[in-house]
Amino acid sequence: MSRQKQCESVKVVVRCRPFMREETVNDNILDVNTKLGQITLRNPRASPEELMKSFTFDAVYDYESKQCDIYDDTVRPLVDSVLQGFNGTIFAYGQTGTGKTYTMLGMPTDNERGIIPNSFNHIFTQISRSQNQQYLVRASYLEIYREEIRDLLCKDNNKKLDLKENPDSGVYVKDLSSVVTKNVLEIEHVMNLGDQSRSVGFTNMNERSSRSHAIFMITVECSERGADGEDHIRVGKLNMVDLAGSERQSKTGAKGERLKEATKINLSLSALGNVISALVDGKSTHIPYRDSKLTRLLQDSLGGNAKTVMIATVGPASKHYEESLTTLRYANRAK
Ligand code: ADP
Ligand code: MG
Repeated sequence: MSRQKQCESVKVVVRCRPFMREETVNDNILDVNTKLGQITLRNPRASPEELMKSFTFDAVYDYESKQCDIYDDTVRPLVDSVLQGFNGTIFAYGQTGTGKTYTMLGMPTDNERGIIPNSFNHIFTQISRSQNQQYLVRASYLEIYREEIRDLLCKDNNKKLDLKENPDSGVYVKDLSSVVTKNVLEIEHVMNLGDQSRSVGFTNMNERSSRSHAIFMITVECSERGADGEDHIRVGKLNMVDLAGSERQSKTGAKGERLKEATKINLSLSALGNVISALVDGKSTHIPYRDSKLTRLLQDSLGGNAKTVMIATVGPASKHYEESLTTLRYANRAK
């Protein structure tokens, strides 16, 4: 796998979050070398010879990294290509509590806004600067929970939606809301509506978000009058995905319904890993998109001319050593 090919279509980066109040700095097991793009993990329980494991990625971000650093180096080029009519997908992958939602949504304060709201500003700023083009921006927000799709923008969000396929438009979600938005305020309103409906039916937001994938989709349609006097239309689709927590569910002692649910979460995350690694490998003739709803839905935004960014998130403390190692291995396989 050449370095060059990675840069073209799939980029994998790792972000380490700061220590939480209950964690102590002495307990740190991560060394993040931002210059080399290298992250080293110390096994708190191993013999000296197998103490350290190092991984190299397209970029690594330490606990001091800012939301705008990640947006500017890693996300901006992908969103620019969406504005040019290509598809793109950004994933946040990692154990619950490591900063997936912080990275994707962030906080309302200006410098803590995450990737999703930052993309709104980016897209509408570019549009306001354009001269000869007409743009139409539409937003959808959905959740995949237990391999079932729900519309986060629909009042009746318990309704399960189906994936359909047609020869012209490819795979799509039947009856999914698609809201035309004319500016940043309108699309922020859409995001807030969806965020509110994510927590319905659960005792807390984290409980649900740790077990479902949330996908914010923006479709940017651009029409331009060509020299031939005809209007030319190009369409780019941006998918921003806050994945379910990657923690191994066996550890949580899940039984019955919970265990079934856990199996489905693990299935879709491993299906995603298989698709990305088959794409990166470049030699696979079969890309197993059909193995999960998530990969089927994103089929036309993974591979081909589409760009993909995987942001793996990890925590710095020793008690999460096993999970952090699993996350880094997953990310390493995707590059
Ligand atoms: P996840 O979505 O992966 O379960 P969260 O995004 O909810 O994790 O993050 C867990 C906690 O850590 C939250 O309180 C969040 O604000 C905080 N956090 C995560 N990443 C960062 C970061 N890079 N800087 C500051 N706080 C962070
Ligand atoms: Mg979350």
